[in-house]
Amino acid sequence: MLVALKADLRIEASEAQKGDKYICPGCGSSVVLKRGRIRIAHFSHRPPINCSWARGETIAHMNGKKMLFDSLRARNLAVEIEAVLSNLTGADRRADVLVTSPRGFRVAIEIQHSNIDLDNIFARTRSYMELGIGVVWIGMISGDLIDEAEDYGNCRLIERYQARPWERWVCNLPSSKSKGIWYLEYERARLWRGQFEKHEIDVPDSSFRDEYGEEVYVGGYTKTSKRWRELWLEGPFQLSEIRIGRDVRKAWSGDFFEYPGGVLAKLIAPSDINLR
Ligand SMILES: [Zn+2]
Repeated sequence: MLVALKADLRIEASEAQKGDKYICPGCGSSVVLKRGRIRIAHFSHRPPINCSWARGETIAHMNGKKMLFDSLRARNLAVEIEAVLSNLTGADRRADVLVTSPRGFRVAIEIQHSNIDLDNIFARTRSYMELGIGVVWIGMISGDLIDEAEDYGNCRLIERYQARPWERWVCNLPSSKSKGIWYLEYERARLWRGQFEKHEIDVPDSSFRDEYGEEVYVGGYTKTSKRWRELWLEGPFQLSEIRIGRDVRKAWSGDFFEYPGGVLAKLIAPSDINLR
């Protein structure tokens, strides 16, 4: 957690002093400022922890939020970290980063590090739409995976990627023109835009004798893996070169995925702008 209350005012962990009294804005219990040389400064609940705001947050997630927040603030945009939105659906009524455009369009950037089920991501996305806030979901990808990927110059290929359902859902959330899922490679503070393709597996030829002694031939074809996807990553992009825009999508429902319709936000890469 990067923001706590000090005498009813929001204070960021990076600006907080040890020894003062801090309160969790979610549950009202007192929290402790943790600050060291390696870990990002943050607030932590004392055990036993019963607060939903304290659950499932990794150091990587906190680093990611802070990185995006600092980069947007450096552009003089109105931006808030862990912004409380009391009308938002879900246990945690905070947007990771909330930025307001000069024209007043509010955009929530949600960095998803842990798993989230499809019902929850759907409900939260629809809730943002109802509040008139554009949402962008960003995944996180480790530098190790990037280093192991095949380098094709302006993109990288991870041949076997175990895409979680929410990642595939997010990839198809933007309107068709701006499809894709953005990933933050937080160790190097840069972004990639991903697309999933089928991963084909070769099934080699073989033969065996059936119960009547007849030779049966199998294999010699490729099949689509259910477990793996190819992940094609365009980039890298620096945080400072990404623009944020408005996007509109239609409601849609299919066998596996269902999408709400409405206004959302999209990230715009410099290469998109050059195409126009
Ligand atoms: Zn709490």
